[in-house]
Amino acid sequence: MPHPKTERTLVIVKPDGIQRALIGEILKRYERIGLKLVALKMFVPTEKMIEEHYLLDSEWKKNVGEKAISSYEKKGETPPSNDPIEVGNLVVERLKKYMTSGPVIAMVWEGAHAVELVRKITGGTEPRSASIGTIRGDFVLDSYQMADTADRAIRNLIHASGTVSEAEKEIPHWFGSKEVISYKVPHEATLYDDDIHSIIR
Ligand code: ADP
Ligand code: MG
Repeated sequence: MPHPKTERTLVIVKPDGIQRALIGEILKRYERIGLKLVALKMFVPTEKMIEEHYLLDSEWKKNVGEKAISSYEKKGETPPSNDPIEVGNLVVERLKKYMTSGPVIAMVWEGAHAVELVRKITGGTEPRSASIGTIRGDFVLDSYQMADTADRAIRNLIHASGTVSEAEKEIPHWFGSKEVISYKVPHEATLYDDDIHSIIR
């Protein structure tokens, strides 16, 4: 089994993250926990690439619909539709517009528990209910309600792979193998080496 430090995850700073001048703030959060940036590029995505990205996981459409419906129910509100697949289809169309509206920055972060830690730092899908201290909780305020009213995607600054298997499909979707760089940084010794007893001379 490969060492856990080799786990990788995909992060995309969405168009609103760049418009809000939050690139440095966002990168800082992942960097300071000890994750290593192994790929990075800026571009304007095509609708085709966005649609393919969100449909890489066959369960995504149903999950995104179920999440939206249960968020409304938790707040005692009525969702616009009770059919998760219908909501999922709607969200794909909204995402195609949102994600192609301007430049994004895609990156790959590597390190132990990279997928889980990046999700924790990023926060929940809906900024309105995302925890304080997370990027989505601290830097933006959008909600299912506002997004549905305006027929648009939730503006939540960042995409981050949800699971290790999602990451394994998403990384090659956006990056060629030569664009992801294997290299070492000195602080990895302190994070991962079994023996740190030889610090004092
Ligand atoms: P996450 O980005 O937290 O993994 P999902 O994968 O469930 O969330 O959804 C992908 C993206 O689609 C979200 O980040 C958000 O921008 C948008 N989105 C999700 N659900 C809705 C919805 N009901 N209405 C509008 N946009 C949505
Ligand atoms: Mg997701």
